[in-house]
Amino acid sequence: MTKPAQMMVFTPHPDDAEFGIAGTAARWVREGKDVIYVVCTNGDKGTSDNNMKPEELASIREQEQLAAANLLGVREVVFLRHPDQSLEDTPEFRKEIVRLIRMYQPETVVTADPYRRYIWHRDHRITGRVVLDAIFPYARDLLAYPDLLEEGLQPHRVREVLLWGSEEPNYRSDITDTFDVKIAALLCHKSQLGNNPSPELGERMRERYKTMAEAEDYELAETFHRLELFR
Ligand SMILES: [Zn+2]
Repeated sequence: MTKPAQMMVFTPHPDDAEFGIAGTAARWVREGKDVIYVVCTNGDKGTSDNNMKPEELASIREQEQLAAANLLGVREVVFLRHPDQSLEDTPEFRKEIVRLIRMYQPETVVTADPYRRYIWHRDHRITGRVVLDAIFPYARDLLAYPDLLEEGLQPHRVREVLLWGSEEPNYRSDITDTFDVKIAALLCHKSQLGNNPSPELGERMRERYKTMAEAEDYELAETFHRLELFR
């Protein structure tokens, strides 16, 4: 039996969580909540280095993701290891997500907003869409997967969904006290940011999160589109 976790974060690629939600994840950990990351692809196309082999890149990015998760205090990282840029909305992928939701029984699920218009990485669009479908109705409904039931994976109702990358954010999350660890976790992704990332990166991001916290009585915020379910 898997120990339940309050929060599950489904990301398309290693590094998405650090860009999108790591400040919030770190705050939850500090509040004593268990956070699980699920990384759907191995990120093996994320390079412009001619000498980099896809298998090597996948393995480097897994290590980077583990290092970042470790800094943030994430309890566990599940790697689904689908090839980068290959996700499709299939029954198999959906069931893979349902299985994990039923195993970890999270109150809150975080993923990419699939409804961002125009240019949006296809893996982000597909991950968001499949995770939302998995939450409702497939993870919730008793008879959706008789074989999962037989394995002992009972239906589960997720209470809250937070979508990052949304064009219609309706929820702010205070990351003032966890901004520094978010940046430190982001910097673990050396294959994406280079070995010597610009010293202004942190400052640029601070300005961005300051704008997102405008009108709040704290300094820095990550923003999401939030859904409350099954109230
Ligand atoms: Zn991504």
